[in-house]
Amino acid sequence: MTAFGPAMGRFTELRPGIRRLVAPNPSIMTGPGTNTYLFGSEEIAVLDPGPMIDSHIEAIIELADAPIGWILVTHTHPDHSPAANVLAQITGGELIGRPTPEGPHQDATFSPQFLVSDGERLETDEFVIEAFHTPGHASNHVCYLHEESNWLFTGDHVIDGSTVVIDPPDGNMKQYIESLRRVRGLDCDALGPGHGEIIRDPERVIDWIIGHRLQRESKVAAALTANPNLTTRELVPHVYKDVDKKLYGWAERSLLAHLLKLEEDGAAARTDDRWSPG
Ligand SMILES: [Zn+2]
Repeated sequence: MTAFGPAMGRFTELRPGIRRLVAPNPSIMTGPGTNTYLFGSEEIAVLDPGPMIDSHIEAIIELADAPIGWILVTHTHPDHSPAANVLAQITGGELIGRPTPEGPHQDATFSPQFLVSDGERLETDEFVIEAFHTPGHASNHVCYLHEESNWLFTGDHVIDGSTVVIDPPDGNMKQYIESLRRVRGLDCDALGPGHGEIIRDPERVIDWIIGHRLQRESKVAAALTANPNLTTRELVPHVYKDVDKKLYGWAERSLLAHLLKLEEDGAAARTDDRWSPG
């Protein structure tokens, strides 16, 4: 089809039956913007309609050019799900995902009509999508496998070219690494991330992410040994020497995620918010 309205020039047909539309919300946290994916041509499933931006919602509807039957959400961070509810109201599409947990940086407007569980499948005349619950970046994070292509749509679980923030308590580093190992084992042909380009070599990219996280974890463990009895904030400069000071707020959240994993693994202990080796 040809798009003349808001979708014009902003979508990519990635392969027959899979299109991507980038939301106009570029930033340091979202890269070029949030990827919204459309599956099918006769009845459409939309994945991650993104933030509440009217022009993006119009572009999704225009690009779909067919009834929208399903609206799938990977997780309820503000750059992925807030448009879902409105899109469902306009189109009648069924909202699919996991409920919004408590806490900051969550989209409280999202409430799934179908609460998807691990292993459940959406079977349509044109395609089948299977859900994988992948907690870590967010406790309610789900990746969706498009079976015909063997492409996995990974939201913020795996993104192109950078690492994602693991923000406790909803973010959990131990679960994140376990979920990464699980996705690696799926033997997918490609990954469709929530931000950035299609990842054609999933295993190499996932191995890099796991390696990078474990390398950071050993830096955290070494910093703890060298500087015991510091708070999380005081430890940041000892672990994130390579990180711009402007990002120290996020670095502190990531550091806490690593410390909590080390605590769970018995390698760190906390007394009155001060950390020491376990
Ligand atoms: Zn995101």
